[in-house]
Amino acid sequence: MRFLTRPLARAVNRAAAGIERLERTLEHVPATLAAIAERVGAIEHGVGKHLTHKRKTPNAATREAHIEAARALGGRCPFCDVDLFDEHGTFKGEVHHHDAASDARIEATMPTCGDCNRSFNASPAPRALIEAYHFKRKRLNGALFSRKRTAA
Ligand SMILES: [Zn+2]
Repeated sequence: MRFLTRPLARAVNRAAAGIERLERTLEHVPATLAAIAERVGAIEHGVGKHLTHKRKTPNAATREAHIEAARALGGRCPFCDVDLFDEHGTFKGEVHHHDAASDARIEATMPTCGDCNRSFNASPAPRALIEAYHFKRKRLNGALFSRKRTAA
């Protein structure tokens, strides 16, 4: 009788240790899955913007309007505050497509520094800062427009 219970007890202990190891491993699964989901989301964002749509470059008028707005709003990247103009006053930033790469309208693009523009391929630009830029740009364009009208 004893010779049967001892191996059985050892087997039960081994099984219990195995289950404990498995439980410790499984504790990391939710965090790992969350990290994978985040990475997949970022890839989908990048794919959605760059592969499923044909990229369009903003026309000269849109680019100029953004450069003028950036200059009038202090000349800094709306996301990281880096200077968007060199010492000669030349725009050294980029025009970021914050909606789709195929959407090059003025409402769908904005000036940023190169580093921020590249970082937005991995994760989208903060929406609040996009909206704040366009709010200020429209107000500014309105001011420029009425100044031109009163001058004429
Ligand atoms: Zn920046």
